[in-house]
Amino acid sequence: MSDKSYQIALLPGDGIGPEVIAEAVTLLDAVSEACGFRITYTENAAGGAAIDRYKDPMPDSVVETCQAADGVMLGAVGGPAWDHHTGDMRPESGLLKIRRELGVFANLRPVAVPASLAEASPLRPEAVAGTDMLVVRELTGGIYFGEPRGRSGEPGNEDAFNTMRYTTPEIERVARVAFAWARKRRGRLCSVDKANVLVVSQLWRDVVTKLGAEEYADVELSHMYVDNAAMQLVINPGQFDVIVTGNLFGDILSDAGATLGGSLGLLPSASLGATRPGLFEPVHGSAPDIAGQSKANPIACILSAAMMLDDLGEEKAASGLRAGVEGALDEGLRTADLGREGRESVSTREMGEAILVHARKVI
Ligand code: NAD
Repeated sequence: MSDKSYQIALLPGDGIGPEVIAEAVTLLDAVSEACGFRITYTENAAGGAAIDRYKDPMPDSVVETCQAADGVMLGAVGGPAWDHHTGDMRPESGLLKIRRELGVFANLRPVAVPASLAEASPLRPEAVAGTDMLVVRELTGGIYFGEPRGRSGEPGNEDAFNTMRYTTPEIERVARVAFAWARKRRGRLCSVDKANVLVVSQLWRDVVTKLGAEEYADVELSHMYVDNAAMQLVINPGQFDVIVTGNLFGDILSDAGATLGGSLGLLPSASLGATRPGLFEPVHGSAPDIAGQSKANPIACILSAAMMLDDLGEEKAASGLRAGVEGALDEGLRTADLGREGRESVSTREMGEAILVHARKVI
C-alpha cells in the first residue's frame, strides 16, 4: 500500500445517521485498501447527540476537528427528543453552523433513476427511467442570507421583507463548479432563474452567459425560467444533465428532483467550497420512525462517500462504490423503503454487505 492517506471527520448524528455511516465506513475501508490508500477517522457527536453531550448542537471544538480534515461525512441530525429545543439549541442549527464554518457554497445533488428502480417512482416508470442529472444549488447566498430583512408594524398592519441579492463573484464561483461538472458529464448545463421578473436573475443570467462564452464554450448552455423548470422536472426529467441555480430555487427544485427515484434513501449530496474539506451527507433526515430497526437504506450515505472519494481524486474507489450499489440493486436487493408488497426486503447490514461484494468485483 502507498503512504497516501486521508483524514475523515465523521459526524454520525442522530436516528439512522449512525447506522448508515457505519455501512459507509465499512465500504470506505474496503475500497481504500483495494485501491492502495489509507483513511483514518475522527468521530464526533453532532445535532441531538451533541446537545446531550455538550449542550451545543455543533461545538466549536467539533467544527475545528472538521476544518482540519480532508472530508467531513455527516449522517443526519434531529428527532423528537430535541423537538422542544428552540433557536441555536435546535439540532438543525448545528447543521447550518458546520455548513457556514466550512464555507461550502455549492451543493451538489445527483439524481439518477436506473431502469431497475423506475417502478418505485411516483411518476410513470417510462417517464423517469434513465434520469441522470446533477442539481448544483448555490448554498450560502441569495434570499436566505440577504440583508436587509425584517418585520415591523402592528398586528393587522404588518410589513415583512427579505432581500434577494447576488454578486458577480458569488454567481461566477458556483457557475464554475457547474460548468466543470457538465464538462465531466454529458456536456450540457441548464441555468435556472426568473430573469423575466427579477433583476437579480437578470444579473445571474448575464454572468453565467458571459462565463460560458469566455471559458466553457465546449459546454452547451441553456437557460430556463424556474416555473418551467419545475414542470419539466416532472414531465421529462431525462432532458437534464447539469442544472445550476440560486439558493431558493435550488432548495425547491432539488427536493422535487429527490422524489423522482421513489425513496429519499437513495439520494447523496456533496457541499463544496473553495478549499477542502467538503461536507458529504445523505439528503434524508434522521428517520426516527425506523431508527434502531436496521431498516434504513444505506445507499444515500454510501453514494455520498463516493462523492467524497471523487473530491479527493480517488475516482477508481468512487466508481467501485457506485458499481457496488448498481450491482446490489440489479441483483434485486431492496431495503424496506424500496420494497413492493409481497417482496422480501433486506436489512441495512445486508444491503451494505451486498454492495461490498459487488464493489469488490471491480476494484
Ligand atoms: P426524514 O428524511 O428523516 O424521513 C422522511 C421519511 O423517509 C420517513 O418515513 C423515513 O423513514 C424515510 N427515510 C428517510 N431516510 C431513509 C432511509 N435512508 N432509508 C429508509 N427510509 C428512509 O425526514 P423527516 O421525518 O421530515 O425528519 C426527521 C428528522 O430529521 C427531523 O428532526 C428533521 O428535522 C431531521 N432532518 C434532518 C436532515 C439532515 O440531517 N440533513 C434533513 C431532513 C430532516
